[in-house]
Amino acid sequence: MSAIKVKKSEAERAKRELKRLGLYDGRRRPQVEGDFVFLPVLNDPMLRELGYDVVPVELPMRPERQIYKNLESVLAERLTPGELQHLRRYDVVGDIAVIQIPPELEHRVDDIVWGLRRVHPFIRVVAKKGFHEGAFRIREYSIIWGEKRLTTVHKENGVELRVDLSKAFFNPRMKGERYRLAQLVKDGERILIPFAGLLPYALVIARYKNVKITAVELNEEAYRLGLENVELNRKRLRGEIEFIHGDVFEVLPELPYYDRVISPTPRGVDALALTLSKAKKCLHYYNFVHESRIAEFKNCIINECRRTGRECTVRVKKVSDFKPHVFKVCADVSIL
Ligand code: SAH
Repeated sequence: MSAIKVKKSEAERAKRELKRLGLYDGRRRPQVEGDFVFLPVLNDPMLRELGYDVVPVELPMRPERQIYKNLESVLAERLTPGELQHLRRYDVVGDIAVIQIPPELEHRVDDIVWGLRRVHPFIRVVAKKGFHEGAFRIREYSIIWGEKRLTTVHKENGVELRVDLSKAFFNPRMKGERYRLAQLVKDGERILIPFAGLLPYALVIARYKNVKITAVELNEEAYRLGLENVELNRKRLRGEIEFIHGDVFEVLPELPYYDRVISPTPRGVDALALTLSKAKKCLHYYNFVHESRIAEFKNCIINECRRTGRECTVRVKKVSDFKPHVFKVCADVSIL
């Protein structure tokens, strides 16, 4: 197997170039000898053309788990290219891998489990994902491999979240959104979070900012998990969280005004007027909108704001694809 011999001072630059050209062999480790480093490379005549000193050196293999792999490339060993096209995105929540299996791949479930376990050796459960059901947005899952549980602890943005996929909504893909909001929030703010679930938004924000948060959730199981999560993260939190068990449409009218309201609105629920009425400065309103109706959605918010005698600016950001042409969006509303 090949390696190239470079001066120590050149090694970092060479490694970057080799990676960029796809010639670096990440399965083996580099080795230092005196003032030189041997970098593992793939066998390619281009290396000599680039002026590298290619030598036959045995470099040690990295342990399997350190080698970067993705599910598609791993499964290419077992699935046909046609089958691979049907492979969907998957999520890892704590030690549970969650994947949607389309009918075209039903007969390949065992291979998919094998692939997931190779890419994520630490997973203990593989669950097949159905659709969100009912007002509490709980998904249907069936366990296709491993321990018979849908509970786990998921780490995200510096907090630990106890999750029970069979009892409460949780979406790990919103990690970036939670981080974005935590950056926007300023110390000292009072924040309202309706539809709070098991408190992922509240905890991530309170982890980074010294704020007072009031969160509201109706699903008793999500509420119970949320309370546990506050305890679990107690030592890490800079802010405070008050958690109310109840219906947003009954609880909010009784609450005061807040500097910022964050509404991870469930699909099909219209809480715009209510959440806007509680916001003094900012509202982040999540909604599912067809791309051809984004401007309409924006105008609707501006008009609703005017109805209460206020002006606002609205920026609508696409957060994720929901289905073709329909996006989950977040309207960032600044009230003037
Ligand atoms: N913010 C959480 C949950 C979003 S899903 C997260 O991102 O993980 C929407 C949540 O709203 C669910 O947990 C559901 O149980 C809750 N919910 C639905 N209708 C509600 C209502 N009328 N009052 C309070 N909570 C409600």
